[in-house]
Amino acid sequence: MTTTSPVPIPEALRFRAGDKVTDIDPGATPGFKGSKSDGQQLQEERSARLAELQELLYANHKAADDPRSVLLVLQGMDASGKGGIVKHVVGAVNPMGVRYTAFGKPTEEELAHHYLWRIRRALPPAGHIGVFDRSHYEDVLVVRVHNLVAPEVWGARYDEINAFERELVDNGVTLVKAAMFISPEEQKKQLLERLDDPTKHWKYNPGDVDERLRWADYQEAYQAVLDRTSTDYAPWYVVPSDRRWYSRLAITELLIAALEGLDLSWPPATFDIETERRRLLDS
Ligand code: ATP
Repeated sequence: MTTTSPVPIPEALRFRAGDKVTDIDPGATPGFKGSKSDGQQLQEERSARLAELQELLYANHKAADDPRSVLLVLQGMDASGKGGIVKHVVGAVNPMGVRYTAFGKPTEEELAHHYLWRIRRALPPAGHIGVFDRSHYEDVLVVRVHNLVAPEVWGARYDEINAFERELVDNGVTLVKAAMFISPEEQKKQLLERLDDPTKHWKYNPGDVDERLRWADYQEAYQAVLDRTSTDYAPWYVVPSDRRWYSRLAITELLIAALEGLDLSWPPATFDIETERRRLLDS
């Protein structure tokens, strides 16, 4: 049975000028027509492909000094599934080649610096996949919604972020920016599950309820992010995330597409294979 639609997932999810956040159906599965179990089955195959590509990226840096890296930027409301992406999607690749950073409320030290300071420090080394669980976009999302700085300050950040990302791309970083959208109903369900399950209490943050109450403000802030920072060199992908099996598959596909775009092949031996074989057998 065919589960993929004629439009590949990355193309189906790419944000296009004029797209409206309020039109997103968080329960949709763009680019995929199958059921949950079809999706989970495909996920296994595609995870193996992702792991292979990650190893290629790593190998090319190790053996051929390839300076390139990939940076996955995850943004989404609380309980949109960012942690699940890290566990299930990124977890399928060799941790040796991953640099993961979660960005919470800035520390005093971080606040004393420019907001991009902590971001620059967390960039993936060559040959690695960087994962940002929240990112510099918090500085135009939570900061905007809560007026943590003056509007002219956060207002100038969109262009600044674009210039920053241009610089990253010019330095060999492929950005994969995933905006994960859940419905308020699904978020409520997820947060209730955290309350109902003692093994999930540690995940529950009473502040999440306050953020829920600002849903419309966040929608507006996300719209501005998409409108102003989705560029040719670092586009946003809008990932419907009510169905976790789908958002995981979708972000796997985004990473695969990014890595395949690097056109990697196994680095050739820098030694004579036959000579080495003989030396080894004789040793
Ligand atoms: P999550 O909800 O991502 O699973 P969490 O609830 O465990 O995480 P932390 O990881 O400690 O909480 O921090 C996330 C919180 O930090 C979010 O509420 C986020 O909006 C906030 N935050 C992140 N970056 C900034 C920033 N630059 N300024 C203010 N608040 C920020």
